[in-house]
Amino acid sequence: MKESVYKLGFVLALLLAMANGQWSTLNAQKVICHRGFWDTPGSAQNSIASLVKADSIGAYGSEFDVWMTADGELVVNHDKVFKGVNMETDNFEKIRTVRLDNGEKLPTLDEYLAKGKELKTRLILEMKSLSDFNREDECAAKIVRKLKHYGVLERTDIIAFSINACLAFKKLLPNTKIYYLDNDYTPKKLKTLGFAGLDYEQNVLKDNPEWIVEAHKLGLEVNVWTVNDVDALQFFIDEGVDYITTNNPLKLQQLLEH
Ligand code: MG
Repeated sequence: MKESVYKLGFVLALLLAMANGQWSTLNAQKVICHRGFWDTPGSAQNSIASLVKADSIGAYGSEFDVWMTADGELVVNHDKVFKGVNMETDNFEKIRTVRLDNGEKLPTLDEYLAKGKELKTRLILEMKSLSDFNREDECAAKIVRKLKHYGVLERTDIIAFSINACLAFKKLLPNTKIYYLDNDYTPKKLKTLGFAGLDYEQNVLKDNPEWIVEAHKLGLEVNVWTVNDVDALQFFIDEGVDYITTNNPLKLQQLLEH
């Protein structure tokens, strides 16, 4: 009898915590490798190896950046200008000559998704902001076709700084989670636009911690980038964000185990 009363008390406490919006603090944060798990031997930012290595450590997700070349091909890289080529104004043939620091050819989105399909880690696809909205709309439509072609739509979340790109994806994929990156919209505004949540820079969320609470009350999720040092990782664990995007996934996993 006494035992069942204790159990009932525990369940009630849990329900109260959920009602207070503290549920997320009871769950472990999900680890997202920023540009893949690249800070490890044999890897490089946005390489296929970084995606495989993110998967091999059991990271929830692996983030990567997508550009559309001048001739309309989709490639995976962070910097617009990288090793002397421009991801937006050069043609694919020239961009493809670039080697990443681990020796890989600069990947196409096709190669990335084909490999991602074999893995378990979630694909956190960032579409980079392009020079005009027409190109962004074209790029979003091409990305959606590729995600469908490789059958990875259900395993993919979309992120973008461009509100135009976010809205283009929302129109094409009403049921896919889309997160806005550019730090300047309130949770309420993002909810109105139908997005899954905010994915903001760490100092913005440190200055506006109430946005985390507000987002959760609205049923939105919160991701934070790019958090690497131990104190900051612990801060966001304690604040109860849903996802932490990091260059230091092993350290974050270690902190979450305690
Ligand atoms: Mg990115």
